[in-house]
Amino acid sequence: MNFEKGQRIVIKVGSALIAPSKAGCSSQYLLSIANFIAQCRLSGVQVVLVSSGSIAAGARLFNDDIVNKNVNNIVIKKAMAAAGQSEMMATWDELFDFSSAQLLLTHADLRNRVRYESIRDTIETLLDNDILPIVNENDAVTTDKLKVGDNDNLSAMVATAANADALIICSDIDGLFDENPNLNKDAKLIADVYKIDDDIYAMAGGATSAVGTGGMKTKIQAAEKAVSHGIDTFIVNGFKEESFQTLLMGGNPGTHFYPYKAPMLDGVHWMRHTTRAQGELIVSDQYEISPNETSDLLLADDLISVNGDFSSGDIVMLRKDNGDKVAKVKTNYSSCLLNFVADSDNQDFSEQLDKTQEPIISKQYIALMETK
Ligand code: GLU
Repeated sequence: MNFEKGQRIVIKVGSALIAPSKAGCSSQYLLSIANFIAQCRLSGVQVVLVSSGSIAAGARLFNDDIVNKNVNNIVIKKAMAAAGQSEMMATWDELFDFSSAQLLLTHADLRNRVRYESIRDTIETLLDNDILPIVNENDAVTTDKLKVGDNDNLSAMVATAANADALIICSDIDGLFDENPNLNKDAKLIADVYKIDDDIYAMAGGATSAVGTGGMKTKIQAAEKAVSHGIDTFIVNGFKEESFQTLLMGGNPGTHFYPYKAPMLDGVHWMRHTTRAQGELIVSDQYEISPNETSDLLLADDLISVNGDFSSGDIVMLRKDNGDKVAKVKTNYSSCLLNFVADSDNQDFSEQLDKTQEPIISKQYIALMETK
């Protein structure tokens, strides 16, 4: 793929590249990446950088005993992220002779459509002013429920918000292999992927790097999010300078995931790939959803039960009693009220609800799930 003037790319760089020895940040592997970013910008390609490294950079500021005893403790990790984020930014800034801007995001920001659009506007404005946005998860304020959790998926969410043409995910191996290359020397690099299916996920296994939170699996998830938005996605070896030379020459140094020919509409894509269902509405196995009909999509009578705690306006999964996922939808009522509606003793109330202006789910917010 040739990166051309007017195009926009997102490049994701993980902790293993920024803090390879887990002793703070180092520019050792970043020079070729910084040069790639500078070259892209010089040829008129807009770049957004998604960079990890705050936890890895912050770790050395904490007493060794605390780090060793609490290596998976979220409270300590949040503090490390807060302590290391400025070093991560400073490391990049030293390599650039142009301005950069810091964006710290959580999943709670991305799954809220108003905040999502606000993030989109900020990225757009920064790029219009030739400022490089550097994005990371705002680990210091997240909880399990609020975080994306890995910067591979975050980079795909950023790429879709930025309406990017390409997403480049830097890895510590050359790309996706048909088997684990660390265990099997005959493993073959898969250069081109036209469809991300279970076979591709099976190749990804569960490998993780020592300092980051992602592995090949999260990279494939990210690729799936991006290609379904029409974004060419590459997994390349970020440790090798030639990866970036090849990319600049329009070649493929690793694995190229090709975009869907008919990408999802932006709003549907956001529902499907950025939001996370906060609960479930269970309907009968006979229920059929027909988004093109004028009548309400879900009547009180259709609802068998409700799972989880959610508020009105949250995204929830509409699921059949047999487990089949029907669609991600936006609920206009809380779980508390819908539990009451699902209870057949409250028939009168349910009939009243169906007569109100506000349907249970909105037609504008529906992402159908494919049935397997
Ligand atoms: N946000 C984390 C950090 O800055 C990294 C997450 C990841 O490695 O994917 O350290």
